[in-house]
Amino acid sequence: MIITKKVLRNVSLTAHPKGCRRYVEDQIAWVEEHAKQSDNPHYPSTTGLHMPKRVLVLGGSTGYGLSSRIVAAFGHNSDTINVSFEREPSENKTATPGWYNTMAFENLAKRKGLKAFSVFGDAFSNQTKEAVARKIEQELGQIDLVIYSLASPLRNDPVTGQAYKSVLKPIGDAFTALSVDLESDIVKQATIEPATEEQVAETVKVMGGEDWSLWIDFLLQRNLLAHEAMTVAYSYIGPKITYPVYREGTIGKAKEHLENSAEELTNKLKAINGQAYVSVNKALVTRASAVIPVVPLYMALLYQVMKEKGLHEHCTQQIYRLFTTMLFSGNAVPTDNDGRVRVDDWEMRSDIQAEVERRWALQQEGKSLVQGDLGGVWEEYEQIHGFGFGDIDYSKDIDPRIV
Ligand code: NAD
Repeated sequence: MIITKKVLRNVSLTAHPKGCRRYVEDQIAWVEEHAKQSDNPHYPSTTGLHMPKRVLVLGGSTGYGLSSRIVAAFGHNSDTINVSFEREPSENKTATPGWYNTMAFENLAKRKGLKAFSVFGDAFSNQTKEAVARKIEQELGQIDLVIYSLASPLRNDPVTGQAYKSVLKPIGDAFTALSVDLESDIVKQATIEPATEEQVAETVKVMGGEDWSLWIDFLLQRNLLAHEAMTVAYSYIGPKITYPVYREGTIGKAKEHLENSAEELTNKLKAINGQAYVSVNKALVTRASAVIPVVPLYMALLYQVMKEKGLHEHCTQQIYRLFTTMLFSGNAVPTDNDGRVRVDDWEMRSDIQAEVERRWALQQEGKSLVQGDLGGVWEEYEQIHGFGFGDIDYSKDIDPRIV
């Protein structure tokens, strides 16, 4: 079939196998180059660092989770297990990008002699946890690092079977702000109605720390975490402009819950001298973030400002910096007053935020976005689905089942 991009309300319905492979190969090449030798103190070589050797990534097929897997495997020859929720391809339907990424990643990792496995299924379910336990027992023995990088719109409670939905809404009052679609560069006004109390509670159930805690409890009970194992979950704070829909909205409540869970988990992990952290990462285009209202407009301005200052990073660069200079540098892990690791440090710099705010004030409803990099945001969005690579012939008839 000829695979073309189809995007509906910032959600891509198709993915390109060759482009997804290229996306993964490009990230691997960047990691390998820096891991071997680097003069850049922000992205140092991994030689001599004590990085974890056996890594479990929950949500490791796209975005920050995929980058975590790539940095572990190709930055430090780690064996990895991914857990993700995918649609497989058929003769006339493409797979999810996560499926293509995973196939590409695992082929390349195995070629390098690394162990690389996936459990495709619902990470919230007990069956998936059991399947992962079997994989660890058979293949890796124990795990040194568990990355929690799930972004999901729903969760079925594994005990009661009740389904919970996460929503991206403000709490209390409706929120009206400027927004932009990825496909058109016209700025428009968007109003998001406030969540009900039930929706707040449901979002916390899905995106809070409950499932992260269940995973760690489960792995501890089964003795599948190695001595001094670490677990890290990813969070976001962002600027005041997006507070109503993000940090002070439903998702922010869930992230607060996730962040509070880190302390409880660290207490539990004391038994093995382990540690739980939350890392606050930068706003980046992923399948999850593109659908948050207002956020694409913020990202377009942020990308432009950070690129002008030479500070723009992709998911892989963020995770590489997190691992090599913060989590496994050999020094004490740097945290803020709330115990969180801050790899969003460059995004949140006051000069960056002041400039984004200045440019935000220039935007006008019904007009094209000005002084932003919507093209860059759109390009990244295309690439995470395997589109927009100049040297791939997208008019070619290909089999969507072959990566
Ligand atoms: P993403 O959509 O690229 O990745 C989500 C991953 O979760 C995928 O691998 C997907 O398959 C998996 N997943 C979703 N539901 C699942 C389920 N039920 N069972 C198994 N796997 C499932 O998202 P992302 O942006 O990389 O987000 C990952 C984490 O990073 C989230 O916690 C997010 O809040 C956080 N974060 C994102 C940003 C950002 O700007 N993108 C910034 C900071 C923090």
